[in-house]
Formats: sequence, structure tokens, C-alpha cells
Amino acid sequence: MTTTADIQALIREIPDFPQPGILFRDITTLLKDADGLKASIDLMAEQAVQYQPDCIIGIESRGFIFGMPLAYQLGLSFIPVRKPGKLPAAVHQVSYDLEYGQDSLEIHQDALQPHHRPLIVDDLLATGGTAAAAAQLVQKTGATIAGFSFLIELTDLPGRQKLPEGIPVNALISY
Ligand code: IMP
Repeated sequence: MTTTADIQALIREIPDFPQPGILFRDITTLLKDADGLKASIDLMAEQAVQYQPDCIIGIESRGFIFGMPLAYQLGLSFIPVRKPGKLPAAVHQVSYDLEYGQDSLEIHQDALQPHHRPLIVDDLLATGGTAAAAAQLVQKTGATIAGFSFLIELTDLPGRQKLPEGIPVNALISY
């Protein structure tokens, strides 16, 4: 059986990427291991099902890698949250602060109805800015967030504190 420790051992650390001083967690070494990839999705799905979501939101782009198989495994639909200018129909947009500058995320206005309970999925929770922006997008649609699911959480950063209070957050692996 592949454990979370086995999964963690498959994640490569790249110092000073994309900038000096950043220790980048590279998931491509996990993705190229078939057992590691399958166990990652299986274990994330086991957790996610407890939050009783009725659809999955993946955040571009690594959130697609984990969100889509999770949706398939749980028999749920998949909704992309994308970088600006990629979604063709009418969108809601939220801007958020990066270390240097700003970025935005978008969701189709008709992607969710107020009765929906999406699970927000991304590969990694760091400062929480990205996931918090995705949460604001969901709130604009009137839907209720069932929970957040990450493969990795960097616990020396206050990412969880940026997320809306009272909503469950799970990460398979913590650093
Ligand atoms: P946050 O907005 O600071 O929480 O950063 C999370 C976003 O940045 C996620 O969408 C990740 O894909 C990406 N990210 C930040 N650090 C890393 C890393 O070390 N490895 C892979 N992705 C990262």
C-alpha cells in the first residue's frame, strides 16, 4: 500500500525556483509514478467525500491535475476556475495580491447555482491567496463551499487563515 509518507517521498524539492529563496515542491516526480499518482487521488477522495460535495472546482492549472480525477472518482461534475481571459462565456472575476503585484481568477457565471456545494481543489496551499480568491468566486455565485482539498500545505505560511472561517480544509501532506 502506498502511504502519505511514500507520496511525500515522491515530491521533489527544487531550491531557488522560480526565485532565489523559494523551495519549490515539484509534483511532476509524483505524477510520473503510477502508484503514487493513484494513491494521491484515492486518499484525497477518501477525505473529500466526508465533506459531502456535489461538484469539484479545480484551480488552473495544477488544481486541474488533481481536481478532475477526483471528480471522476467521486462521480461528480468538474468546474474550472481559470486565469483571466480563458473562459469564453460571462464570468465573475476576483483579483488578489501576489508578493509582487496582483493576479485574477475567473469562473463562469452559470457554473454554479446557489444550491451547489463545491469542493475547491488545488495542488498546494501556501499563502492562501489563490484558494481564497477561488472561494470569493464561489461566494459570488451564491453556492456554499463544502470544503478545500490540497495535496500539499506549507504550514509555516498562514494560508488557512486566509480561507473563509468554518469551512473544512484538508491537505494530504504538510511541510
Ligand atoms: P498561494 O496563493 O500562495 O497559496 O499559492 C498557491 C498556488 O501557487 C497554487 O496554485 C500552487 O500551484 C502554486 N505554488 C506555490 N508554491 C508552489 C510550490 O512550491 N510548488 C508548486 N506550486 C506552488
